[in-house]
Amino acid sequence: RVVSAAPASPQEEALERALRPKGLAEYVGQAKTREQLEIFIGAARKRGEALDHVLLFGPPGLGKTTLSHIIANELGVNLRSTSGPVLEKPKDLAALLTNLERNDVLFIDEIHRLSPVVEEILYPALEDYQIDIMIGEGPAARSIKLDLQPFTLVGATTRAGMLTNPLRDRFGIVARLEFYTAEELTRIVHRSAGLLKAPIDQEGASEIARRSRGTPRIANRLLRRVRDYAEVKGSGSIDQATAQKALTMLDVDPLGFDVMDRKLLEAVIHRFDGGPVGLDNVAASIGEERDTIEDVIEPYLIQQGYLQRTPRGRVATMAAYRHLGVVPPQREGG
Ligand code: ADP
Repeated sequence: RVVSAAPASPQEEALERALRPKGLAEYVGQAKTREQLEIFIGAARKRGEALDHVLLFGPPGLGKTTLSHIIANELGVNLRSTSGPVLEKPKDLAALLTNLERNDVLFIDEIHRLSPVVEEILYPALEDYQIDIMIGEGPAARSIKLDLQPFTLVGATTRAGMLTNPLRDRFGIVARLEFYTAEELTRIVHRSAGLLKAPIDQEGASEIARRSRGTPRIANRLLRRVRDYAEVKGSGSIDQATAQKALTMLDVDPLGFDVMDRKLLEAVIHRFDGGPVGLDNVAASIGEERDTIEDVIEPYLIQQGYLQRTPRGRVATMAAYRHLGVVPPQREGG
């Protein structure tokens, strides 16, 4: 994938960090989540208490990590970051937890990928700010309770449904991040262009925004690629024509669909008669992981009305046929 929503190289990550808004006021969109957090953070600050545990879910690149930084900033506390797959052993998590200072934020990305033994440690930590750890080995082994400082866990996951129930139940604040509107993404592109000192006009920014799959990470990446194009092939400044040419070169179509989006829709339409087709068959047919299809590719196609998820499988909509220029079959009943 030329422009995927998943984080890539360390260099890309450094650039992303530079573009990250630092406070809630700078965080574009997600009005409902922002408003909720503003109130709960304000209340926690006033009482000098730890904020309730927060679960953020939604497709990659919508701003979950960014929000965890903002929460810590707004609370005026430290942030410790890790991720589910990194915490292999209970003692990895225990070490992080015991080092937290009062009211700190612990961010666990991909929290649905915690191993069950690690997750076990987390329950009493979340509930009573305590952990049970094993000391010694063999017959001499015993478990001791350690008190922790009050803290806030911010967990991020692509799908809330992948969490175990006991874990999900321990979050007091649950926020679902939505795809951004073109107008919101235009604001993000303008802001990022300003930080990158890339000259851009209104039409140039909205062209990039419209083709960013509702995702700030993609908007920022496309912006950087379009800037490169403008510097080499154009006058250096980004207008609509330059953006269009650059995005076409990157295989991002006018709806913002990329190669994988089109491959998926084409497979459903041409190989499975428009569906319904099961996820495994789609995955095998386009050579992509099930999880990537479910977490990264499908959500936007579904939200935009190009694909439907039915109990019998995925179905391409009329809009998908139209977009690919394929004449839809006559379906029974209409
Ligand atoms: P996630 O953790 O959900 O995968 P990130 O928080 O890493 O996503 O966000 C990816 C990039 O998108 C960040 O570099 C950030 O600059 C930008 N971004 C995300 N959400 C917003 C927002 N609401 N306003 C401005 N920029 C945002």
